[in-house]
Amino acid sequence: MKRAAGASCTLGGMRMLAALPLLVCLAAPVWAADTLSTSAGGVKITPVRHGTVLLEIGGKAWYVDPWSQADFSSLPKADVILITDVHGDHMDPEAIAKIRKPSTVIVAPAAVAQTVTDAKTLANGKSMTLEGVKIEAIPMYNLQRGPEPGKLFHDKGRGNGYVLNVGGKRIYFSGDTEVTPEMKALKNIDVAFVCMNLPYTMPPDEAAAGVKAFAPKVVYPYHYRGSDLAVFENALKGSGIEVRLRGWYE
Ligand code: ZN
Repeated sequence: MKRAAGASCTLGGMRMLAALPLLVCLAAPVWAADTLSTSAGGVKITPVRHGTVLLEIGGKAWYVDPWSQADFSSLPKADVILITDVHGDHMDPEAIAKIRKPSTVIVAPAAVAQTVTDAKTLANGKSMTLEGVKIEAIPMYNLQRGPEPGKLFHDKGRGNGYVLNVGGKRIYFSGDTEVTPEMKALKNIDVAFVCMNLPYTMPPDEAAAGVKAFAPKVVYPYHYRGSDLAVFENALKGSGIEVRLRGWYE
């Protein structure tokens, strides 16, 4: 991957744009990556944009919810694509077409497979193993918020959050959800990506309360456009949970 320009403007995984405004990172887009060590080797985690995340696991590129608002030109082609739900920022045939190759495997809930017809379907509560990674589908849904009374933005059963089990570590992607009983019941999560933003999901204080309930070691707020991340961070101060803020919208 061509990240040479990125090396000069990252430090400790954090972009230095704020601290060193004159050190211009010309070769945009450049994303800072983090590495999670597992018994199966390092998993490179790249926050891309909004709900789009790239994991590099054993030389394979795994994307979650690739969206056309991200620039994939310097990112690897996908070996595996996980899709959470039918909304355009999660299920984006144009983005899938950009990053897929003939061997790419797509995993999605049945509602997504109506459009992305070659996806392998996975229902809430089920799991499958791909490339040695066990993928668990976790329900994602609204408890109370919807476009009008009696309707929810995300109905239970339609979309999947995911937990990936890699070399003894567990990585969670919430998808678009409020704090559900299933989220609160998650165990042994090493790294969590948790959504927020209104009106569709939840505000940062609710997201933080949900994160406290299942206590991952590390949490990345993602899919948070317009949310006040200081509220999220402050609510988790002293919890022992590391909050990683990244430049998802730069
Ligand atoms: Zn969304």
